[in-house]
Amino acid sequence: MCAIVGIYGNDNAARLASAALFAMQHRGHEASGISSGGYEDKKIYTVKKMGYVRDVFHEGTLGKLPGSIAIGHNRYSTAGSDSVSDAQPIHAKYKLGEISIVHNGNLVNKNEVRQNLIDEGAIFQTDMDTENLIHLIAKSTRDRLRDRITDGLEHVKGAYNFIIQSRSKLFVIRDKHGIRPLSLGRLKSGGWIVASETCAFDLVDAEFVRDVKPGEMLIFSEGYKAPESIQLFTGAEFRPCAFEYIYFARPDSVIDGKSVYRTRENMGKELAKNDSNSKTKADMVIPVPDSGVPAALGYAQQSGIPFELGIIRNHYVGRTFIEPTQEMRNLKVKMKLNPMKALIEGKSLIVIDDSIVRGTTSKRIVQMLKEAGAAEVHFRVASPMIQHPCFYGIDTPTKEELINAVMTKEEVCEHIGADSLEYLTIDNLKDSLGRDRNYSLVSFDGDYFVV
Ligand code: 5GP
Ligand code: MG
Repeated sequence: MCAIVGIYGNDNAARLASAALFAMQHRGHEASGISSGGYEDKKIYTVKKMGYVRDVFHEGTLGKLPGSIAIGHNRYSTAGSDSVSDAQPIHAKYKLGEISIVHNGNLVNKNEVRQNLIDEGAIFQTDMDTENLIHLIAKSTRDRLRDRITDGLEHVKGAYNFIIQSRSKLFVIRDKHGIRPLSLGRLKSGGWIVASETCAFDLVDAEFVRDVKPGEMLIFSEGYKAPESIQLFTGAEFRPCAFEYIYFARPDSVIDGKSVYRTRENMGKELAKNDSNSKTKADMVIPVPDSGVPAALGYAQQSGIPFELGIIRNHYVGRTFIEPTQEMRNLKVKMKLNPMKALIEGKSLIVIDDSIVRGTTSKRIVQMLKEAGAAEVHFRVASPMIQHPCFYGIDTPTKEELINAVMTKEEVCEHIGADSLEYLTIDNLKDSLGRDRNYSLVSFDGDYFVV
């Protein structure tokens, strides 16, 4: 999860970074931060706070972020970590000066690397795996930052996109498998942008140039019109994460050449094709908003069953709503989603959501629809059964908490109270995404390919 952005060569760098973070708020809203600086005064400034981008960045804070280089980060909320010390960017002083760093992904060997560093005397300020790279850079004895970064990366494994700011340069690295998305754009107002999702480019008026290549390092420096490209790692298979297309990314983003919206629509069409011989006579297809909408449209197009907004979402409910008890969790779903009683009363519904993780949401939704008078609820999930935790940057819980890992499809159907339940198959998912590359499907097939 998380969103990252880098801006190089624009006098409004921090403002543009905050706009890009605003466009990518869906990737994380626990905390937001920006570092800025530039080749004028050779200092790096950092502002990071808990909360939404709109609450963290305003005239008061943006005024403290001068310069033509900026990096930014939105932190995704994970259990137990509510401290601003775990927000990014991480800003540090070391032998060659100052650096600041943002990271999206998850380093699979973080504990070993951290323990080794601690054994050698390092002191850690945060609980984040990102801090490992700072220490590795600081420890390297090479003369140039780019070589120190390369040295440091020799020790880290996993899914990572790093953007590192020095006092005059910007370094961008995508891991050798290209697991998480990262794109390069050109700002119409001058300079460059690198961001997790292309929806950020639309907001800041940037033209998409290309995706950062797996294993590539881009170096932006003064006087260079275009970034320098160094292929750090070669020979690894490109394995972009399928879950970006299923749930994470905004539908208006294009990731590694594919429209997120179109792939979601395809997933819905595949679900409908699987149902084409079923005896179920549904009156309407309804999405669980917002994440189920494109797939439900695809299902409706393929099946000819009318698409209706049978559940209305209240957009003012934040995902950070505290939920200490089951009662509060139920209330949360009710606060967020409300069935259209007049529309669904006595009707047979195909209900589409993007995924079932713990089964909490789907159970509430089915209950809610039945209470509102739905005659039948046929639940369709626009992803395969999530049976394995992902360690490459997605916040899936432990295996025991994954309902599809501990129950059969029939048991889940009964648990959520649906009249029928179907998932996308792994083959359907591959067809929806296109067979041109071997996507990372860890949550579905348990193939932990990063070793
Ligand atoms: P469940 O209630 O089964 O645990 O979660 C399923 C719901 O959570 C779906 O509506 C889906 O859109 C959403 N979802 C799927 N993956 C994630 C995730 O990684 N983070 C968050 N916040 N929601 C997710
Ligand atoms: Mg959802």
